[in-house]
Amino acid sequence: MGSLSGRPGVWLLVIVNLAGKFAAVFVASPAPVTALALWLGPDALLAYHLFAMRAQGLVRTHRRFRTGRREVWLTIDDGPDPDDTPRILELLAAHGARATFFVIGENAARHPDLIRAIVAAGHEVAHHTHTHPLAWFWCASPRRVKHELEAGLAALRVTGVQPTRFRPPAGIKNLALGRALRARGLTCIGWSARGRESRRDDVDIVAARVLHHLAPGAILLLHEGPRVPPAIRLHAIRHVLQRLRDEGYRCVVPGPEQLVAGDPNPGSNRRVGV
Ligand SMILES: [Zn+2]
Repeated sequence: MGSLSGRPGVWLLVIVNLAGKFAAVFVASPAPVTALALWLGPDALLAYHLFAMRAQGLVRTHRRFRTGRREVWLTIDDGPDPDDTPRILELLAAHGARATFFVIGENAARHPDLIRAIVAAGHEVAHHTHTHPLAWFWCASPRRVKHELEAGLAALRVTGVQPTRFRPPAGIKNLALGRALRARGLTCIGWSARGRESRRDDVDIVAARVLHHLAPGAILLLHEGPRVPPAIRLHAIRHVLQRLRDEGYRCVVPGPEQLVAGDPNPGSNRRVGV
């Protein structure tokens, strides 16, 4: 059972949940409405901490970084992709931008040359699970979570990469994730803003989403690969890079001491922006 605990909040959430069920059974007859609330309330709380990227109860999740300059962290998920990655590297080079690629282990195993190219260009490679199990990651067994992490690490090890950062698919957590990440020296990274490219095929809308409330220290999330609608593959990243350049922002990869969990738009990081 110890394999579940990643943060003290894990067991607190589990105990509250079980206590709620227990209490609901006892009061069901005299107070059915109260019983319903006791039964469902803890489930809602647990669901929030599993599915809301901003929630910190299960895994400490970083949503911005400290900087006194006009700097943001551009992160690109779901690669590497043989069509997109080389052209994204060209775009980043043309803009003098650094980025972190949160890659899927299966893709990395298929295209180790692309992982090496990302590193050779001065960018960071990070972990985004081995199979991108979007539908069931939240309820995966500790053993399955371990497999997702280990298989992805093995795929990257072939290329000489040992990642220190991890992003779960869509930011969805798991009761066993915190401990599994800690055991492997991985830090969980969320985002300040994301493009949600799979839902829209208009680069202006995607860029507006990513750059909404743009501020120094923001973590921006965009995607590569076939999940992005063909009409905006690469174009969204190009558009965002151009907008950032116009606003005087640099794309950097922050150090671990700069990372901050919690509110991505605090007063300490003055909003400068579009
Ligand atoms: Zn993803």
